[in-house]
Amino acid sequence: MTALVSQARVPLADAGEAIATLCAHFLDHDIPVDQWPGKGIIAFDVGTGQLEAAPDGLTLRAEAGDALGLAVVKFMLASHLQELPSASTAPIVWTGDGCGEATLPSLREVRVRRVADLTPRMRRVTFHGADLARYDAHDMHVHLLIPPEGQPPVWPVPGIDGIPVWPQGEAAPALRSYTLRRIDVAAGEIDIDFALHEDAGPGASFARRARPGDVAGLLGPGGRSAGPADWTLLVGDETALPAIGRILERLPAQAEGIAVIEVGDAVDELPLVHPEGVALRWLHRGNAPAGSTTLLQDALRAIPIPDDRTVFAWSGTEFETFKALRAHWRKTCKLDRTQHLAVAYWRRGAAEDAKDDT
Ligand SMILES: Cc1cc2nc3c(=O)[nH]c(=O)nc-3n(C[C@H](O)[C@H](O)[C@H](O)COP(=O)(O)OP(=O)(O)OC[C@H]3O[C@@H](n4cnc5c(N)ncnc54)[C@H](O)[C@@H]3O)c2cc1C
Repeated sequence: MTALVSQARVPLADAGEAIATLCAHFLDHDIPVDQWPGKGIIAFDVGTGQLEAAPDGLTLRAEAGDALGLAVVKFMLASHLQELPSASTAPIVWTGDGCGEATLPSLREVRVRRVADLTPRMRRVTFHGADLARYDAHDMHVHLLIPPEGQPPVWPVPGIDGIPVWPQGEAAPALRSYTLRRIDVAAGEIDIDFALHEDAGPGASFARRARPGDVAGLLGPGGRSAGPADWTLLVGDETALPAIGRILERLPAQAEGIAVIEVGDAVDELPLVHPEGVALRWLHRGNAPAGSTTLLQDALRAIPIPDDRTVFAWSGTEFETFKALRAHWRKTCKLDRTQHLAVAYWRRGAAEDAKDDT
């Protein structure tokens, strides 16, 4: 495959120090780095970044097999460089492939095609759009861009420094995370299942008012699924029901494990396709507000993790439950990083863009 290449020369007093700091940071995040004095090569999943000291500063080089990979490498290098106090105001101007494009390679505009209520509190919105093949991936989630009600969409655009420029003020779209429940590339369709929660923000409100023709944007995909294992534990509330449904459908037929799902009531349960060896356990919180109970943690403490098979424990929950589950799996069950993934899907009392620690 022909590589796409972009470069930027950044004026900087001590390029060597910036290279050392950035390389250490990427290594910290388990990204492979080759490093020499004054030079570092970073092997991202999607392409390669190179940092090299030059007489008047730092040279950045990004290389990837496609436009999206190139944009990701440029973003990773530029955004991390700008976080260094010594480089926070240094101008970064990329030249080469991918420069001068008017739209982000990761952005797709989609329109609502149809809407269906799965339960009284869960609504499926089917979006239609072109060129959706990249969403048919192992990664499970997208960022949904939601234009303000009644306004035409204004999307983020590529910045000359490789960092997207976001619309500001009243036209700015809201950004919310959702799971790709179903993707049909040939039909150009994507399903997202929205929990119609109390205190609805832009995401749940969009679903409540959705009509065929309504416009939204997609960025992504991203987000790890459960890793392969003989025994799989899946835990979540209704916001993770789409992810759990998707993971269950893709488990091998001989898979074993348990899915523990908290919903309001029996009417909120959904029929899920699952391997025979994976049990479904529904928990009902009744009139208690979502995110206010310890139902999931309590149930999990009573489920022993097998020690004679490979295991993977996955959860998507409210923030407090996320913290409790992660601590339980790491400290009590001694699961390592390859054996579990706990994610905060939302935080009680805080909008998604106000969430600070997931
Ligand atoms: C990787 C990932 C995947 C996700 N996938 C899905 C999905 O497929 N379907 C889905 O419905 N959600 C999903 N979520 C959760 C969803 O992004 C959040 O619930 C989000 O806050 C909804 O945005 P909003 O604009 O409706 O509310 P926000 O503006 O973010 O929040 C407004 C208020 O609503 C409260 N709130 C948010 N969610 C809930 C809830 N579930 N119950 C009660 N109160 C709530 C907040 O605490 C806040 O007070 C996912 C989250 C992540 C991180």
